[in-house]
Amino acid sequence: MARSWLTGTADDGLPPTRDGVPDELRREVLRDAGVVVGLTVLVTAAGVAWELPRRIVTWSAGTGAPLDHLVFLLAASHLLMMVFGARRGRQLKAEAAAHRRLEEQLREQADHDPLTGLATLTAFLAALQRLERSGGDPDDVAVLLLDIDRFTAVNDTLGHDVGSDLLVAVADRVREVLPPDAVAARTGGDVFALLLPGAPADAATQVLAALRRPFPVGDLALEVDLSAGLAHGLRLGSAELVRRADVARSTAKRQATGVAVYSPEVDTFDPGQLALHGDLRRAVREGDLEVHHQPKVRLADGRVTGVEALVRWPHPHLGLLMPDRFIVLAEQTGLIAPLTDLVLRRALADARGWREQGRRLTVAVNVSARLLHDLDLPDRVAAALHEERVAPDDLELEVTETAAMDDPERAMTVLGRLRLLGVRLSVDDFGTGHASLAHLSRLPVDTLKVDRSFVAGLETEPAARAIVRSTVDLGHALGLSVVAEGVETAEQWHQLAAWGCDLAQGWWLARPVPAAVVPAVAAEIERRVAGLQRPAVTAIVPAPRVPVPRVPGAQRSLG
Ligand code: C2E
Ligand code: MG
Ligand code: MG
Repeated sequence: MARSWLTGTADDGLPPTRDGVPDELRREVLRDAGVVVGLTVLVTAAGVAWELPRRIVTWSAGTGAPLDHLVFLLAASHLLMMVFGARRGRQLKAEAAAHRRLEEQLREQADHDPLTGLATLTAFLAALQRLERSGGDPDDVAVLLLDIDRFTAVNDTLGHDVGSDLLVAVADRVREVLPPDAVAARTGGDVFALLLPGAPADAATQVLAALRRPFPVGDLALEVDLSAGLAHGLRLGSAELVRRADVARSTAKRQATGVAVYSPEVDTFDPGQLALHGDLRRAVREGDLEVHHQPKVRLADGRVTGVEALVRWPHPHLGLLMPDRFIVLAEQTGLIAPLTDLVLRRALADARGWREQGRRLTVAVNVSARLLHDLDLPDRVAAALHEERVAPDDLELEVTETAAMDDPERAMTVLGRLRLLGVRLSVDDFGTGHASLAHLSRLPVDTLKVDRSFVAGLETEPAARAIVRSTVDLGHALGLSVVAEGVETAEQWHQLAAWGCDLAQGWWLARPVPAAVVPAVAAEIERRVAGLQRPAVTAIVPAPRVPVPRVPGAQRSLG
């Protein structure tokens, strides 16, 4: 590992030396010598001025004192002083060198983690500050912070020696791929920090790719998951850069995405987010949120059977904000429960309004992962249904598959109670989470919503086609209905219809619209779809058939 930023050059904190003698000591000796020479000249000049030599000779002649003996005594004492002085000088030089070696050793220990040999946190921060002062382009710097998921479990199950060996193996792997100007540190426990000057994005990708390979530890090849956070730019200072990388690392861990790049939207401590949080709290309290609805259309006959309620926030200064600007913030700050209650009440009131106008539509409300662990949720939903006078099967709750996976026991209890109420449940963004088919088959849900990233690739990507088609088959095999999200073209609509997908939702049919216009928009969609010419079947390339995996017990526990 090159550590030019770590060790620095002239700025390593130790006193500068020449020939092993600290410059400070050399200066002191020269100053003392100068004083001695100066005093000698002064004394000699004073002696000459007061005619001391002549007086001494006169005194010697008058008293008979042996002047040659006196001169000899002075010369001998001078010589002895020089000999002892030189010896003391050599001693001082040796002492200074030993002192310096000790200082270097201490500095080495403070700068390097004894287990992995990587830099310590102190050295890492010092390197970052040197880089900050160096006057380079502040945008060309990134910090990548990473830690090993479930590292405590490695220690607990395989022992602390294996844990330590794993840390060393990770450090070695980092060193192998680190660009020459970068600095790597172990900043504590299983947390590693990388300072990446130059082309930080490429370097981060390279390091993360290298860390995905298994680590040889003793006889084992350990495969570990990492959570990594990347933040760019030194404009706000080194401490802020490190803090942002840490926020991104927490996001990666929370969302189980492996890696996340810092974004202010997920940063509750970002000054902008703090202000936004205050505004959101007020908006939720005062009901200043809007609910728009996006129709879901039956592919078999073009009927609009339901809508998805999507929250919008008309912010007094920032304009109409979409959920991606504030849902994460609400989730992190405990506002998600009152926000969901508000959306639920509005959605149910809207459904009642449409029914009173002669349009019965199922309304779907998104429920965040966090709320699936809230044992009071089913009671609140029951109260809302009762007060808004809406039948339970006119309400659908959309949950993501990953949501149901954290603390599955509790999520399963909440989902089970909601199901008992008679509310419909669907798995949102299906295909993007990490749920296993076995887990999925145990969820008490009615519908799979295929994520729009797959639907978007229907016309161009064979893999996306295969995924959508086999999800339709899988859903049906499990007794579930299947909704395709994000339908943006007529070709996608026809293809989904040909595969027997149940419902479609997307901009090609309608964007999310305010409740008041839903009946008119629904009627317009139905007219448009009824007038559609089915394209020649040959226009659609058949997707390769992917066998539907068998899920034991699926039929029993579902539907
Ligand atoms: P989602 O539940 O998957 O909702 C569908 C999102 O896809 C909506 O974005 C919708 O506007 C967008 N969309 C629909 N059709 C198309 C299309 O054809 N093309 C493209 N590119 N996009 C399409 P929106 O409204 O921005 O919502 C984003 C996400 O925010 C939602 O994803 C949902 O997870 C979350 N969300 C929205 N409202 C709520 C809410 O009340 N509570 C909670 N917890 N989450 C909400
Ligand atoms: Mg949804
Ligand atoms: Mg979705």
